[in-house]
Amino acid sequence: ITPNDWDTSTLFPEIETITDPVQVTKLSQDYHTFSPILQPKLAGKTGDVVVRPVNEAQVIQVAAACVKYKIPLTVRGAGTGNYGQCVPLHGGVILDMTRIQEILWVKPGVARVEAGVKLAQLDKKAREIGWEMRMAPSTYRTATIGGFIAGGSGGIGSINYGLLGDRGNLLALKVITMEDQPRVIELRGDDVQKVNHAWGVNGIITELEIPLAAAYPWAEIIVTFHDFMTAAKFGQALADADGMIKKLICITAWPIPSYFVALRSYLPDNTHAALLMVSETSLEPLQDLVAEFGGKITYQKLAQDAGKGFHLAEFTWNHTTLHARNVDTSLTYLQSVFPPDKSLSLVEELYHHFGDEVMMHLEFLRVGGIAVPAGLQVIRFTTEERLNEIIHYHEARGIFVPNPHVHILEDGGRKTVDVAQVKFKEMVDPYGLMNPGKMRGWMERA
Ligand code: FAD
Repeated sequence: ITPNDWDTSTLFPEIETITDPVQVTKLSQDYHTFSPILQPKLAGKTGDVVVRPVNEAQVIQVAAACVKYKIPLTVRGAGTGNYGQCVPLHGGVILDMTRIQEILWVKPGVARVEAGVKLAQLDKKAREIGWEMRMAPSTYRTATIGGFIAGGSGGIGSINYGLLGDRGNLLALKVITMEDQPRVIELRGDDVQKVNHAWGVNGIITELEIPLAAAYPWAEIIVTFHDFMTAAKFGQALADADGMIKKLICITAWPIPSYFVALRSYLPDNTHAALLMVSETSLEPLQDLVAEFGGKITYQKLAQDAGKGFHLAEFTWNHTTLHARNVDTSLTYLQSVFPPDKSLSLVEELYHHFGDEVMMHLEFLRVGGIAVPAGLQVIRFTTEERLNEIIHYHEARGIFVPNPHVHILEDGGRKTVDVAQVKFKEMVDPYGLMNPGKMRGWMERA
């Protein structure tokens, strides 16, 4: 049976449904378009209908109907994922969660929210009592919390708290199952990992309990350097400065700063840039650190002006790639995590080895308690073979590459099948209707 045989008006009289093909096609897309490899693979893949429930009871109705008629279901937040996570490979229902967006409560250090809450909305609410999200992607103004947990990995704040998969960064999840009689299941403790970063293949997340961080008055700063390795070592030193409070350390090698059109007056030609968020209380020590490394502060915005002008964070993480591609659509990117090494010798080797073909973009984050650079290098794409060669060159040197040019969960950052996630899917999605074609462990199970 296909959704064409499925009369949405009688099945969901109270649920908003979109059938206009132009809208449905739009709501079947995400930002996999950053990848020249994924673009042709996912071209033309669309759902048949978009359903926009407003509460859990309506989600259960949609789940029950999809199970009854064996219709594939792809959950969607804001659709900002980069790996085609919410592009439906086999048509069916797109379940848009953005109308389920209540902040249920915020207490010191923890919040409970519905899955469609936008990250910026949660941050704003938490700040009313002096707290904020521990980490957010650079898409925080549009992305949903459900989509971040199911499809993201970390971001601004990861220098303090590591990645979403680290124990303690997600406290609880509520999911709706796709069984004959859909159930509501609450997962707490280590059990949250069964659904964390599972790309919506094993349960519809409706609520989450998220730990918060103490909110500081964040200043936004640009520092420029004449030498890239000095900029990178400055980034490592700031990351390691335990007495200094920071939230973002992004280092970009020229010519990447030339792509930041709105920032150009702060980025002289041929300089390498550090884009930072540091607590105002750490601004004086920051000046000393900048002086030690011979950098120059070209821009500074205090917390009271946070809402004015541009948001520096929206030039970092994968927004760096976005700005680069706005100037030159042939550019793409890589993701990598360097092994701990305070001298940054691998960064230096690769910077010189690839030159402008692989432009260095580093984001510092904590991995296992140690501050390391993660690369979101901007790449001048030529062929798939060359891209793979570049990836292998990194891997051969012990650099971990969560490949952003694949649309299968395990082929990206995970590398191996997560047995607990597959087992959970067997229970909650026995017909394999959720986001089919994305989980190798499910497709290849015995
Ligand atoms: P979507 O793209 O809508 O969904 C992502 C995945 O989650 C899909 O598989 C979907 O099926 C699933 N899903 C969504 N909601 C639910 C739910 N309620 N229940 C079950 N499954 C669900 N990511 C980072 O981690 N860090 C970054 O800094 C970052 N920067 C980015 C910058 C740019 C310019 C772009 C385009 C992307 C970036 N991303 C980043 C990727 C993405 O924006 C984030 O991961 C974001 O949090 C995804 O949220 P979303 O609501 O858009 O999710």
